[in-house]
Amino acid sequence: MSARVLVTTAYLEPGGEVERLLRRAGHEVVFARAADRRASGQSLAEAVADADAIVAGTERFTAEVITAATRLRVFGRCGVGYDNIDVAAATAAGVAVTYTPGVNRESVAELVLGQLVNGARLLPQNIAAVSEGRWEQPSGTELAGSVLGIVGLGSIGKAVARVARALGMTVIAYDPYFDADFAGDHGIERGSLDAVLAASDFLTLHLFLDESTRNLIDRERIAAMKPGAFLVNTARGGVLDEAALADAVRSGHLRGAALDVLETEPLAADSPLRGLDRVFVTAHIGAATHQARARSSLMAAGQVADFLAGDPRPGNLVNPDYLKGAV
Ligand code: NAD
Repeated sequence: MSARVLVTTAYLEPGGEVERLLRRAGHEVVFARAADRRASGQSLAEAVADADAIVAGTERFTAEVITAATRLRVFGRCGVGYDNIDVAAATAAGVAVTYTPGVNRESVAELVLGQLVNGARLLPQNIAAVSEGRWEQPSGTELAGSVLGIVGLGSIGKAVARVARALGMTVIAYDPYFDADFAGDHGIERGSLDAVLAASDFLTLHLFLDESTRNLIDRERIAAMKPGAFLVNTARGGVLDEAALADAVRSGHLRGAALDVLETEPLAADSPLRGLDRVFVTAHIGAATHQARARSSLMAAGQVADFLAGDPRPGNLVNPDYLKGAV
């Protein structure tokens, strides 16, 4: 049966592969207005009102928005984290939520590589100095021989670990579900969270955000990091206390930080991170490559098409309990 599929993912445009895939499956495809793509609250609630399915990006699908989507049956979230969707509300409303794990690990790992080099050599400062007429040659530090701590040795954490080992870094990782086989194969040391914080010259976060990981890297844990360390966060802003991080960089306890994700995106006008020249903020671009976007959006659309074709458990279903809510 033909369904109305709403696309809210900011980088998807009419006429592309995703639209073709869904139309071939017999569905009507509607693209949310550009203004609604990154919207939340009322404007997104209006956009979803007559959708049977949504191919979603990082927009915030709150309980209020999901309640407004009275025809909705399935989300295909393009991407790895699905903390922007109120999964409990979706489950209660009988809406299936799917996502696309593993599609962007190389893209994020390559961004982390750039952030590590920036942290080691402070490239943004040097580029700014030269463009302002100053020929500065400060001493950086080599990544080879430095210790990289990884919190969250999942899909992306492992890709980062492989890159770091290739550079000659010592890698120590913490994950409550530690993959000892992978670690053994790649020469990665296992540590408790405290041990990783204390040992790392560079620390990179690759865990998902939920209530168990919110604010995991809090003021106390930032204080417990090795003096002079550089912190990289491409996971989610909510896992880190940004005010404590800003204080630690300002005081010189940390060398600096690179953040691709923030508690509030875009960067708030009154963010404590503003004005710190050793905090390099990027605009949540970890997965923003042509390749990762193509993989992610086609997988999300395919899962939506499978669901609409009658498969109640399409690939990468987050909430199998949605069937109970659907009565
Ligand atoms: P994944 O599920 O493969 O890996 C997450 C890992 O975190 C798992 O191994 C899990 O065991 C571990 N973990 C769970 N609780 C933990 C804890 N308390 N401490 C340490 N580790 C813990 O996911 P992934 O594909 O590696 O992605 C990780 C996260 O990166 C995503 O959830 C998403 O939030 C973020 N991400 C960001 C971007 C970006 O554009 N910046 C792109 C993709 C993913």
